[in-house]
Amino acid sequence: MEYQRTIAQPVSLEGEGIFTSKKIKIEFHPLPENEGIIFERADLPRSPQIPLHIDYVVGSEGSTLLSDGKITINLVEHLLSALHGLGIDNLLIRVYGEEIPLFDGSALYFVRKIREAGFRILPALRRKYRLLKPFTMENGQGRITFFPSRTLIIKAKIEFSHPLIGLQECIYRHHPFEYLREISFARTFGFKNLLEERKRKGILKGGSLSNAIVLDEERVLNPEGLRSKDEFVRHKVLDLMGDLYTLGLSLMAEVHAEFSGHRLHIEALKSLYHAGLLEEVEERALTFLWIPKKRKLFF
Ligand SMILES: [Zn+2]
Repeated sequence: MEYQRTIAQPVSLEGEGIFTSKKIKIEFHPLPENEGIIFERADLPRSPQIPLHIDYVVGSEGSTLLSDGKITINLVEHLLSALHGLGIDNLLIRVYGEEIPLFDGSALYFVRKIREAGFRILPALRRKYRLLKPFTMENGQGRITFFPSRTLIIKAKIEFSHPLIGLQECIYRHHPFEYLREISFARTFGFKNLLEERKRKGILKGGSLSNAIVLDEERVLNPEGLRSKDEFVRHKVLDLMGDLYTLGLSLMAEVHAEFSGHRLHIEALKSLYHAGLLEEVEERALTFLWIPKKRKLFF
């Protein structure tokens, strides 16, 4: 039996936005069962909200963003990855700006804050999506395939003609412990010349070696080096965990992602959702359920 969870108390964190170079605060607040994940632009008049739903998600070349046509919140993927990885079903996220801070480029800051808040188990069974039949989508650069499965398994493959990357593969079987130990620390990465070009064009206003792994033609420029030799492909799994959670519920499927990015992930998930290939399921209800209100869970 898996029950829904939220956090036990509110927590906040603050960091620099790489698109705006502004300091942006975000707050996490507990929500009751069946409310889902709700984002709020707390910096705008009347604090408009966007519930996490695949119809409000846009996959761009370098990030995943939420938009309902009026308001936007960019760079949601690493935060959603942490929520998916740790199994947070219901949460209000107040964002005082138009993007989620990148922090160190991994999910570690979000994971630490959520664990600091503690978990609260809620008196409702967790709902998930079951995949009804296999599905593939390609876009000329990459391919993503979904197979029905009883659990979530991600197989990711990337290839870059860089001496430190090359061809990397990773298999992840979803479990909060595995997510914490194997995936949550993996940082995003970028190439120095591309990052400089984006800064010149004004696409990126912030960002430094503390927000990502930065590579030149041969080396990692960050003085601390890599956190693991295959940190690059682990980050691809981290991104996928975030993008998959834009469905609002965890998906039970075996996902094979080859050379794929946010745009393809989100397009494929929209197709799955709108083609009726997902069935919402929950475990059968208990006849008697008692959960102490203040109980904290550590997995
Ligand atoms: Zn990423």
